[in-house]
Amino acid sequence: MEKVALVTGSSRGIGAAIATLLAHEGWAVCINYLEQRKKAEALVAKLRTEGCVAMCVQADVADRSSVDAMVRQIEDALGHVTLLVNNAGIARQQQFQDVDQETWHRILSVNLGGCFNCSQAVIRPMLREHSGCIINISSIWGSHGASCESVYSSSKHAIIGLTRSLAAEFAPSGIRVNCVAPGVIETDMIQALGEETLAVLRKEMPFRRFGTPEEVAKSVLHLATAEYITGQVLTVDGGFLF
Ligand code: NAP
Repeated sequence: MEKVALVTGSSRGIGAAIATLLAHEGWAVCINYLEQRKKAEALVAKLRTEGCVAMCVQADVADRSSVDAMVRQIEDALGHVTLLVNNAGIARQQQFQDVDQETWHRILSVNLGGCFNCSQAVIRPMLREHSGCIINISSIWGSHGASCESVYSSSKHAIIGLTRSLAAEFAPSGIRVNCVAPGVIETDMIQALGEETLAVLRKEMPFRRFGTPEEVAKSVLHLATAEYITGQVLTVDGGFLF
């Protein structure tokens, strides 16, 4: 079977690094984006000049019909998805008492709902083929509490629960489900913390630096190819939290 990867939220940041590495390792990749069409198209063009097979599709992972339409486009162009990386995610720093209903629902719908929607959209062909791999991107805040990130942390905890449950359910069907939990990684997402906070945080890092998207991507590749590993959470945080 062809190796076809869907990496959600891959127009930039960690997702872009994952899609790039997988494309160079022989997967035909679909770059998914929400708003940044130019970035997604530029990444596809770059990968094609490097001899890779790539396409991009706009879809909001929180919206099931949009996800289903994306998966149909991938199946028409590349074939069934054999590797799904649920990477799309959003964060917002807010004190708990200030979180409104809209924020609560949106963060859970994108971060957790996105994993649910995309996994369901690709699972039937995987079940038929008795083969497939799903990798969810959680966070260190999926196993530790995070002040002023209660919603984000809740969604990331739930992603680990979903990972373990799907791993148990699908192992007899030859499908592996694992999770990568990054620490603080240099992307647009952490810029909201502000330079002052980032400088303090950097000093708290055992390696005195944040991780790179490429370092997270290497862990995803490892799990994508580690045939006897399922139901696991691989932390990539430079030793920040033990
Ligand atoms: P980022 O730089 O903010 O990029 C987010 C990506 O997700 C973009 O490609 C964005 O698309 C896409 N996206 C956002 N909402 C979407 C939606 N509803 N549907 C489809 N795509 C959507 O984020 P990042 O730092 O690379 O984070 C990637 C993942 O790693 C997230 O799940 C995040 O929670 C997790 N993580 C990050 C860190 C960190 O320190 N950076 C740490 C732990 C975990 P557009 O470009 O089109 O907007």
